[in-house]
Amino acid sequence: MKDREDPSAGQAIAFHSKDFLKWCDEVLEGVLRRSPVGSGLDYITKDFFNWATRNSLYFLHFGIMCCALEMAVASAPRFDQQRFGIIPRSSPRQCDVLLVNGPVSKKLKPVLRRLYDQMPEPKWVIAMGECAISGGPFYNSYSVVPGVDQFIPVDIYIPGCPARPEALIDGFLKLQVMIKENRKGLLTGK
Ligand code: SF4
Repeated sequence: MKDREDPSAGQAIAFHSKDFLKWCDEVLEGVLRRSPVGSGLDYITKDFFNWATRNSLYFLHFGIMCCALEMAVASAPRFDQQRFGIIPRSSPRQCDVLLVNGPVSKKLKPVLRRLYDQMPEPKWVIAMGECAISGGPFYNSYSVVPGVDQFIPVDIYIPGCPARPEALIDGFLKLQVMIKENRKGLLTGK
């Protein structure tokens, strides 16, 4: 009865997951990242993880206007971008790539930035179509951001108004090459 009345009684034995994760991070930091163990594991696994990453690019489809139709068609049987491991997802926490197309308004800008921040590392951004690259036909509008690279780092630019599905797939293939050339170990980042 006394334990029930004491609000701190349960906390003494409660398992605090964030403390556990912090402890794990510190141990990993010390044992793996700063020692030869981490470098050795990275040497063994780097190529495999890089191969797996670049061949399973899950992208967050952020389509606003006409280019979004081209983006959708790229998943249809005629173009079948899934054969390259390019798969759309709806949650930023499951995605490697943020695919932006259409004109981003100034009101929408913080929302898009938040989605980007919610994606786990490593992550990449593709700007598809003139609107995402520079504002397109709306570049001079009071309400449109003249390019998503004003507030998010963009890795691949795909020009066109609209950008065709073939161009979108080509952009993803260029991103795969970029990931292959810049491969780094997961533990040491080297
Ligand atoms: S780039 Fe052209 S086709 Fe694409 S969303 Fe803008 S206006 Fe539409």
